[in-house]
Amino acid sequence: MVFENAQKQLEKAKKHIELAQETEETLKNPKEAFIFSIPVRMDDGSLKVFMGHRVRFNDARGPTKGGIRYHPRVNIDEVKALAFWMAIKCAVINIPYGGGKGGITVDPRQLSKTELERLSRGWMRAACRIVGPDRDIPAPDVYTNAQVMAWMMDEYSVLAGKYSPAVITGKPLSLGGSLGRSYATAQGGYYCTREAAKKNEYGKTVAIQGFGNAGSHMARLLSADGYKVIAVSDSKGGAYLEEGFDFDKLMEVKGREKRVDAFPGVKKLDHKEILELDCDILVLAALENQVTEENAERIKAKMIVELANGPTTPEADDILHKKGVFIIPDILANAGGVCVSYFEWVQNKYGFYWKEDEVNARLEEKMVKEFETTFSIHREKEIDMRTAAYVLALGRIDEATKDKALY
Ligand code: NAD
Repeated sequence: MVFENAQKQLEKAKKHIELAQETEETLKNPKEAFIFSIPVRMDDGSLKVFMGHRVRFNDARGPTKGGIRYHPRVNIDEVKALAFWMAIKCAVINIPYGGGKGGITVDPRQLSKTELERLSRGWMRAACRIVGPDRDIPAPDVYTNAQVMAWMMDEYSVLAGKYSPAVITGKPLSLGGSLGRSYATAQGGYYCTREAAKKNEYGKTVAIQGFGNAGSHMARLLSADGYKVIAVSDSKGGAYLEEGFDFDKLMEVKGREKRVDAFPGVKKLDHKEILELDCDILVLAALENQVTEENAERIKAKMIVELANGPTTPEADDILHKKGVFIIPDILANAGGVCVSYFEWVQNKYGFYWKEDEVNARLEEKMVKEFETTFSIHREKEIDMRTAAYVLALGRIDEATKDKALY
């Protein structure tokens, strides 16, 4: 279903660009897709087997790159779609990578820290033949973090017999992580939002679905720039505050109560209500398939910023386009994460580390440039921003594929 949606987006974009036959053919299916068992000795002495996944979708432009997701719903169809989007995203932001993705079908909240470590090291033991600093470079995604990356990098280094920080990104700073990486996805999304607001006046009220890494940093950056965050949600529910949230206080409540709707004085919202709220900007920072054919007509926001991957279905896209909603698509809006992951990899290979403002300045330059290029294609061809970003990415993948002249 998710992979089908990704392919529908591709089909739509293909009407606006002439692709070589070999490019079309190689984008239909992943280059490699692995499913493997990860046996884990649990704390109580029993053995549990978890299913691990890794997909390398397309490596026309460089080694494959993409996160590892821990979630009960992880399946090969979803991982394939996410890997495909990574290939497109790396081409939109013009970094020398192809697309990959991985995951484990697990609810990590049910595991102890030691079980989680054994599971993460187990994933890398099984996947070490697939990944590698010049082959396939993982990173964090939903419910994985710098600690998980640290375990995996260490496991790979043991297996390779040498310190190998460039095998994975999103690591802690002590193990070769990059300054600015922890909030880079939101930082990139913020630069796009700021550039979009220069093209058109959208207003300043914001609703954010998903208050995890991407969503919370986006709330911080937009609040600091004078936007009013009037609604936020997490997996437990949503909260609305007409006067807008004080960011520090919201973080304090979320940290203490583990839910945003515990903020004093808010009107509670259910998962659907936050999407349909009367606001200027809707930030989608949770999971895929949130805005669908069913609710698209009721969306009131004038702009949608997709920090999550695949939060809008192709059917919803058409409805929103007709309604005149400006969407900054995932493959552009959340590309800041992979862009700073690329910077981290470059620093690891160099063994020379940049200052935080250097990282952010380089990120800003990339995001602004590719936002502008996408926007020009959107205007020139009179197509929505997602299709424009696809056209940009496909052109770059096509060029590399043709230059390689596959047999
Ligand atoms: P995260 O695990 O830190 O946060 C996810 C948040 O979504 C959590 O607060 C969770 O409670 C919330 N959530 C889950 N179900 C929800 C629901 N039904 N309604 C509202 N909230 C819900 O993950 P993240 O790293 O912030 O990633 C969020 C999205 O952004 C994912 O789609 C991910 O693929 C995408 N993304 C993240 C990065 C990154 O660098 N972190 C990069 C690119 C894309």
